[in-house]
Amino acid sequence: MTAEMLDPTIPFDATHTALPGRGFELGLSENPFPPLPSVLKALNNVMAHANRYPEFLPERLPRVIANRIGVMPDQVVVGSGATGVAMQIMQAVMKAGERIVFAMPNFDGYPIMASIVGVRATPVPMDTAGRQDLRRMALTVDRKTSVMVVCRPHNPTGTLVTATELEQFLNAIPRRVVVILDEAYVEFVNDANAIDARALVERHPNLLVLRTFSKAHGLAGLRIGYAFGSHELVERVRRWQLPFGVNSAAVAAVTASYAAEHELQDRVARITSEREYLRNALLRMGVRVPRSFANFLYLKGPDIAPKLTRAGITVKAYPDGSARIAVGDPAASRAVLEALSHA
Ligand code: PMP
Repeated sequence: MTAEMLDPTIPFDATHTALPGRGFELGLSENPFPPLPSVLKALNNVMAHANRYPEFLPERLPRVIANRIGVMPDQVVVGSGATGVAMQIMQAVMKAGERIVFAMPNFDGYPIMASIVGVRATPVPMDTAGRQDLRRMALTVDRKTSVMVVCRPHNPTGTLVTATELEQFLNAIPRRVVVILDEAYVEFVNDANAIDARALVERHPNLLVLRTFSKAHGLAGLRIGYAFGSHELVERVRRWQLPFGVNSAAVAAVTASYAAEHELQDRVARITSEREYLRNALLRMGVRVPRSFANFLYLKGPDIAPKLTRAGITVKAYPDGSARIAVGDPAASRAVLEALSHA
């Protein structure tokens, strides 16, 4: 079977956020491109053996990822998306009643997982510039605090904390507190703002860097994520690995996706250039949109989400009327601009 035989109606270089007859789905910060042909081909091959279990505990996937990012395999823990790994971290290092600190608004998963694990979420407001307030977050640490989350880029604003702010924050946090540096959207950050997460992990044994194949790699449906950090900390998190819990498609998909780096980079470039185009057009219309380093934009204003929803565009809506929208599909950009151009 060739990759194209899976669905001959989808051209592989075309975006597809349109829902037939139902507007656009922009609410989940997904990649608008379907998986690359080489990735689909690799998936087809493994599906032919889907009667077999995957590895009891994943060893190959951590090796493939470790090789790629330049750490030892025992420094990598994999799981069901970054969400699965984040929850595994919380289960491994938190006790009932302890506190997890993160900026608010944030990725919805953190408060949900806190309630599943039975720990208390401590949301910290953003600073006046609309960025995560790392100084204030550091000041909230008390005896009960065992995990802190910093997203870089931040969801939903797409903003970045600077390397210096992050380093100061890490230096201020006691070693017994685990810091999750959530880099779900790291591939969309331009080189000028990239940080050396591997070096940070070497300096801070309480740091876990969290990443996913759901966003730039466009494999959200396969649920593959990982974290890397010091061997000791990763070993604690690995103890919570669900037997047979990582599907057998993951190694093939990740290997093929890494091998197709240039095509992926091309897609990332298309998504980020569409992001810049759309943001500039929105700014010209008077919509407030922070500069984003992710694959989404945060449109601030009391009536943004209702207007887009009325136009059939599915967005992530916030209580004050602001909206987060995934970017990358030019047709969706046109629909957003059209929807907001009416008073
Ligand atoms: N972290 C952040 C900041 C996110 O926005 C998301 C998904 N929206 C995740 C983690 C989880 O991604 P996944 O579970 O699909 O890997």
